[in-house]
Amino acid sequence: MTVTAPAPSTAAPTPPLAARAASVGGSPVRDILAVTARPEVINFAGGLPAPGLFDAEGIAAAFQAVLTEQPARALQYATTEGEPTLRAAIAARFAVRGLATDADDLLITTGSQQALSLLATALVEPGDTVLVESPCYLAALQAFGLAGAHLVPVPGDEAGMDPAALDELVARHRPKLLYTVPTFQNPTGRTMPADRRAAIAGVAARRGLWIVEDDPYGELRFEGERVPWIASYPGAEDRTVLLGSFSKVMAPGLRLGWMRAPAVLLRACVIAKQAADLHTPTVNQLSAARYLADNDLDAHVARVAGAYRERRDAMLLGLPQALPEGSAWIRPEGGMFVWAKLPEGYDTAALLPQVVRHDVAYVPGAPFYAGEPDRTTLRMCFVTQTPEEIGEGLRRLRGALAR
Ligand code: PMP
Repeated sequence: MTVTAPAPSTAAPTPPLAARAASVGGSPVRDILAVTARPEVINFAGGLPAPGLFDAEGIAAAFQAVLTEQPARALQYATTEGEPTLRAAIAARFAVRGLATDADDLLITTGSQQALSLLATALVEPGDTVLVESPCYLAALQAFGLAGAHLVPVPGDEAGMDPAALDELVARHRPKLLYTVPTFQNPTGRTMPADRRAAIAGVAARRGLWIVEDDPYGELRFEGERVPWIASYPGAEDRTVLLGSFSKVMAPGLRLGWMRAPAVLLRACVIAKQAADLHTPTVNQLSAARYLADNDLDAHVARVAGAYRERRDAMLLGLPQALPEGSAWIRPEGGMFVWAKLPEGYDTAALLPQVVRHDVAYVPGAPFYAGEPDRTTLRMCFVTQTPEEIGEGLRRLRGALAR
C-alpha cells in the first residue's frame, strides 16, 4: 500500500509551544552581542572574562595529562553527582574558607546556570512565588520564569536587598525561595554587608524559606574584607543552596559549576540533572581537578583580580566625563560590573542604537527588573577590554550621550 502525504493546503498546524516557552523571551544581552559583533565596537555589554588572562597553557597541560593517563575514564560516561576528585577539591576550597563541606554535599553542574534550572525543576510549581533582587541576574529570571514562577522583586539599595522588606514580602507571598547574588552582584556590582546577611538568614529561618545564594564572582575581590557566605550564618545552614563556578576564575568554556545543598534538595537536583544531561562532561571535570592539583588557582585568581582592578579603575576614572551630569554609579569592590543611573528622563534602551552608531555598547538596565523597570539604568562590564580601550570606549560614549 502506498501512503501519500496530504497536500500542504490541507495540512493541519502543529500544536502550540508550551505556555512557559512562549512566556519567557530571549536574553537581550545576547541580542545586543549579536548587533555589536563588529570588531570596531568597544563592547561593555557582555559579561565576558578577559580571554587574554585565561591560563590556556595550564588548562591544556591538564587536559593533555588526563587524556594521556586515563583516557578510558576521561572519555567515558560518569556519575551524575560528579567526579569524586573534583568534588573533593571543591569541598577542600570551601573548608579553607571556613565553610565545612563534604564532597557528598556537592553536585557538579554544567555551569552554575544549570544549577538554577535544576533548582527551578526541583522546587518550583507553576504559580509559586520566587523572590528576586531588584534588579536581578537576567538568566535567573529566565530559569525561574520558565518553571512558571511568579517573580516578586525585593527592594533594596546600594547594600543589597532590604531585610525588613524581605520579611514583609515573605509573610505576604509565602514564597518557595529567595534568589540572591550577595557579592559583586550581576548587574549592580554591589555587595551585601554582614549584618544584612545575618538578618536574611534570620528571616529564612523564622519564616521557612529556601535561600539560593549564587556566588560566581566572590573570588574576584580587589579591595575590602571578604564577607562570609549567607550559608554560614545561624539559621541559614540547613536551608541555603550555595552555587559556585569556575567560569570567572578559570574559564567559562569549561562549563563547570557546583551546588552545595542540604541532602534532600541535592538528591532532587541529581534526579533533575539525570533528565537534563546525565552528567557534566567527564574530561572537563577530571582536567579541572588535575589543574587544581598541579597549579595554584588562588595565585592565578590574584593575577586576574589585579588586572581587573586596573580595568575597574579605568572605568571609574572615565565615567564622570562619559555620563551626563547628574548620573550616579556604584563603586564595586570586585567582580565585573559597574551599574549606572542616568538623570531622570533618559531611557538607556531608546538611546542604545545611537550609542552603537558611535561604536560602543552597554546593556540597558530595564530587562534586569522582575517588576517595574528603572529605564535610566545601564550595566557596563569593565573586565573584557584593556584600560586604554576602556578609556576610548568611554570617550565614544560621551560623544554618543552628548545632547
Ligand atoms: N549566576 C550569575 C550571577 C552570573 O552572572 C552567571 C554568568 N553570567 C551565572 C550564574 C552563570 O555562570 P556559569 O553557568 O558560567 O557558571
